[in-house]
Amino acid sequence: MQGIALPTNPAYWASGKTLQDLQPMATIRALQLLADKDLSLTERDSPAAPGPGEAQLRVRAVGLNHIDVWGLRGMAFAKRLYPLTVGAEAACEVVATGPGVTNVAPGDRVVPFGALTCGTCPACQRGRDNLCENVAGVRGFHIDGFAQDLTNHPARLLVKIPDGVAMRDAACVAVAFGTVEHMLFDNAHLEPGETVLVHAGGSGIGSIAIRIAKSIGCTVITTVGSAGKAAKATALGADHVINYREDRFEGVVRKLTKKKGVDVVFEHTGADTWAGSLLSMKRGGRLVTCGATSGPTGSLNLMQLFQQQYRITGSFGAPMSALARALDRIASGVKPVIDTVYGLQDFRAGVERLESRDVFGKLLVEL
Ligand SMILES: [Zn+2]
Repeated sequence: MQGIALPTNPAYWASGKTLQDLQPMATIRALQLLADKDLSLTERDSPAAPGPGEAQLRVRAVGLNHIDVWGLRGMAFAKRLYPLTVGAEAACEVVATGPGVTNVAPGDRVVPFGALTCGTCPACQRGRDNLCENVAGVRGFHIDGFAQDLTNHPARLLVKIPDGVAMRDAACVAVAFGTVEHMLFDNAHLEPGETVLVHAGGSGIGSIAIRIAKSIGCTVITTVGSAGKAAKATALGADHVINYREDRFEGVVRKLTKKKGVDVVFEHTGADTWAGSLLSMKRGGRLVTCGATSGPTGSLNLMQLFQQQYRITGSFGAPMSALARALDRIASGVKPVIDTVYGLQDFRAGVERLESRDVFGKLLVEL
């Protein structure tokens, strides 16, 4: 394996890539971590023909997420072997199917579910596949991900993309949009007309949460870190935007809600906002969290927890059912906010930009 940047057949890549001219490729491009922090565009052998139960996918777009920042930094809490193809979130076309596959066919557009769940444990059987007891790995993290031209994937772990949904939008679903869908509805049980505090409204998931909550008629209060992002969050439909660098958000929230607090807090920032988030909730309020980008430790006053009857829910990933609902929601017009689309060779720049937080919405890579 070596870190070379040129495909062997430039004429192939120069032409418009359609299913019709997709010929068997001897080698494919792949974006691989060769060691911690060493990310290179490489060539690797094309995958073998799909085996029983598998589909072969032509990857069209990959969404960037904090899981990619972890991967690039080489955070050591996951066992994995290098080289490792990155990319945890993708939109693809099926180009071939193996024996026994009936749920998808060549030409179908699909979102692959990146965790290789077992499909048979009690959690999988009751549709809570993000609680699977026997996950064989998460693509792009423990095992090869989607930032490569072709890949094989279990057909049972594919969700079809409805007509009218752009590949770019679909590439935001497996991690970002699906996570938000699962947080707001499966976990926080957000209802039309409620008030929700969305942290980091300029982030990939924050911007999606604003759009979804507004689309069902909620009042949205959001926090951002700059005047530029405040204007964009307002343009997205947020009712109240708080620049957390200028104001203590919990004080503003209490003022805006006439000291009652919000129904739901959408948390993913962690240490910096945790205490204020708890103070922002009304009695019986729900807090759902899926991240801790500013640090993993926060304290909890147990008197406050039970007297205020808070419900605090951790959320990680999403079940496949949430991905299907997310795609339907996009088809109905609630689209993710896309900041920038990079070429495969610029993946690293995209991840570094994500890390810098100088972004409003999702960053994507198109193949
Ligand atoms: Zn399972």
